[in-house]
Amino acid sequence: MKKNIIIYGVFLFFVLFGITACTKKQEFIEQESQLSFFSMDTSISLTAYGENAEIALKKVKQQIQDLEKLWSVTEEESEIYKINHSNGKEIEVSKETTEILTFALQMAEQTEGALEPSIYPVVSAWGFTTEEKRVPLKEEITNLLTYVGYKRIRLSGNNVQLETGMQLDLGSLGKGYAGDKAVEILKKCGITSALLDIGGNIQIIGRKPDGQDWRLGVRSPFYGDILGIIELSDCAVITSGSYERYFVDKNGIIYGHIINPQTGYPVENDLASVTIIASQGKQCDALSTALFVMGLDKAIEYWRKNEGFEAILVTKEQGIYITEGIKKKFTLKQAYDYLKVYEVNR
Ligand code: ADP
Ligand code: MG
Repeated sequence: MKKNIIIYGVFLFFVLFGITACTKKQEFIEQESQLSFFSMDTSISLTAYGENAEIALKKVKQQIQDLEKLWSVTEEESEIYKINHSNGKEIEVSKETTEILTFALQMAEQTEGALEPSIYPVVSAWGFTTEEKRVPLKEEITNLLTYVGYKRIRLSGNNVQLETGMQLDLGSLGKGYAGDKAVEILKKCGITSALLDIGGNIQIIGRKPDGQDWRLGVRSPFYGDILGIIELSDCAVITSGSYERYFVDKNGIIYGHIINPQTGYPVENDLASVTIIASQGKQCDALSTALFVMGLDKAIEYWRKNEGFEAILVTKEQGIYITEGIKKKFTLKQAYDYLKVYEVNR
């Protein structure tokens, strides 16, 4: 009799446990919210979990669209457009624009001008912001480079002043900054689990709803697929390379959209892509562009001198250089097991 009670008890336990587990699982599914839209010249897809997720994501969408309105280089109403057409006049800007410009100037200094927020005259001559991509004449590039130089951007308080002919471009870090704002909004709404994909830039809050780390695909520069998987929580993962936005001239030469500010020509070095992993999107975005400009050796040197981020550097020669802090969390996709993997240490 006692034995029967025990068996019955164990049976009941499993039934109840099963029901609770199912309810929990269902809860997660019910609480998942998704929102996809196009902004900042890219596809954005947001997923968040929790009671407030739907409202929170709507707020995020609004925020990203507002930032796009502030920073678009082509929209006449944007603050960046106004600065770029100010003919030397001082322009008062919003808190957000002041913030991102302050950060951009800091990063330009720290990367010795590899990140160059005043590169726009050159970017625009190559036609990267329009549909008419072209190879400018050498003299044109030499002339335009005289209007490039972050040290000559004057930012005092909320006022920005450029010399006539100079123009700003926040394309290298705007999406990362927008991601940080998104994370801020979601956290304020009580969201503890979210995955934001802003044109391939990934930002995550917490862990997956089941408590496991997020499994994130690292973009491959070779066939537009995934190079491998990293398992992480609470961070940003951002990749730069010239494999996505580029054009090919009649001789088959490929021109990428990231410009070497020293030459005015698209970056041409040993790197195929740079992925940066750090707590903040703006840092990842700025560094992925800047380290791509630097090339492999300088990028590694920069990582050794500066703390607070990890990197995956892929070379055209099919080597992957992974910094020690992220190495164990990264698994190469089987299709890429012919690549040579190197660990980079301090
Ligand atoms: P994506 O926007 O494709 O994710 P990036 O974050 O690397 O790529 O930013 C590239 C954009 O930054 C270019 O399209 C251009 O607008 C701008 N840019 C190009 N070269 C530089 C540079 N050396 N420094 C800062 N911005 C740059
Ligand atoms: Mg970038």
